[in-house]
Amino acid sequence: MTILIKEATIITPSEEQRTDILISDGKILQLGKALKYAADRVINASGKYVFPGGIDPHVHLHLPSPAGFSSDDFISGSIAALFGGTTSIIDFVTPTRGQPLIEALDLRITEASDSLVDYSFHISPVEWRSTTEEEIKECIRRGFTSFKIYLAYQKSIGIDKEVLFKVMKVVGKAGGIVTAHCELGEDVDRLRNEYAQNGHTSPLYQALSRPPQTEVDAVKMAIKMAEKTSCPLYIVHVSSGASLIHIRWAQQNGLPVMAESCPHYLLLNEEKYQGDFEKAAPYVLSPPLRKTEDQQLLWRAFINGTLQTLGTDHCPFSMQQKAFGKHDFRNIPNGAGGIEHRLALLHTYGVLKKKLSLQRFVEISSSNAANIFGFEKKGKIAPGFDADMILWNSETTNTISAKTDHSNCDINIYEGFKTIGAAETVIKGGEIFIDNGKLLQKVPGKLILRKPFDITIKQ
Ligand SMILES: [Zn+2]
Repeated sequence: MTILIKEATIITPSEEQRTDILISDGKILQLGKALKYAADRVINASGKYVFPGGIDPHVHLHLPSPAGFSSDDFISGSIAALFGGTTSIIDFVTPTRGQPLIEALDLRITEASDSLVDYSFHISPVEWRSTTEEEIKECIRRGFTSFKIYLAYQKSIGIDKEVLFKVMKVVGKAGGIVTAHCELGEDVDRLRNEYAQNGHTSPLYQALSRPPQTEVDAVKMAIKMAEKTSCPLYIVHVSSGASLIHIRWAQQNGLPVMAESCPHYLLLNEEKYQGDFEKAAPYVLSPPLRKTEDQQLLWRAFINGTLQTLGTDHCPFSMQQKAFGKHDFRNIPNGAGGIEHRLALLHTYGVLKKKLSLQRFVEISSSNAANIFGFEKKGKIAPGFDADMILWNSETTNTISAKTDHSNCDINIYEGFKTIGAAETVIKGGEIFIDNGKLLQKVPGKLILRKPFDITIKQ
């Protein structure tokens, strides 16, 4: 299919540029003024921005939990992503202990094969075995260059300092990157059990058992390890302002440290844990929501470049599933959705509130993730790149609700949030998927394979 987009306003690192865009065979063929071509479809984009398709570097679709699978599978989750202007995601491969990484990877590739958006995975070494080094190298040879480690969840998938050192040493040398969930698992487990044993079982105590210091200490440990091993480090879902000081310090000292936060840490705070179970349980996440001051510090970190990406950590559970922990917060499945709202929230509360420029919006929602994770042909509107792009109407208003969103969950933690700006047309791989609020096709997305790389990223 060929598409000619007329009069698009695209955002380059230095300016806004008015151009036509010619798309052919899934790629951007040409940019230029007044292009002439007998395309299958001509779209007039005057008055609209054309952004590179959103890349959400942190989603969990079809995630197993003791309360059952998370609400969105790869079909419903990717449809919600497309409606919000996200055309690529990175999900996770989480083996059980004893299971080879490659075996878990192959299973996950099959599970994800009906995703409508393009997808890749962060792969989790959950232990160190005699074969782990070779398994990591094999993952990289197969095109998976990012490895997610958990410093929380020590009893199931979490690893300790010694294993972290070994993983980072191997990954760094092989041209990959380690992404880290930074909460000190032992401290969290101790607090959880203490609260529960003393009869404190409401959702509030899930949050209180994961204080900011457990994140800060883990961030410090991971940064120290990045320094020792020269392995690039990407800290996921930073929630606390105090963590940013250490991340900033690392970056100013030339360490390859990058970090992500999520819309819920920017826009919601710990007051959500007050009130009865039904009110508070939807906000049970890890790390938990923090204070208003943390929100302000996180915004500032997006402005000054300490934080590079906004991931959603999309992992919704229904109210019925949350009720598994009605009498003990330790049984509430952790997680909430957001995959559909990332761009609209960032636009409304970042760009329109004059915190972020449009250049920064494009970097945070797409290009930085492409650079950090080695999506060579994504994250930019330029000849030769994948034709993943969205026509953005800056004036479309919406009120977020679980009743109208496309996620398969009866909870939406942004319920009632007003947004301005929306993806009107969504093109992925040179095909139109969303046109004026309608999903036109359900063609499966592509598995994105990546090469080992050197990271250069704009801070
Ligand atoms: Zn996550």
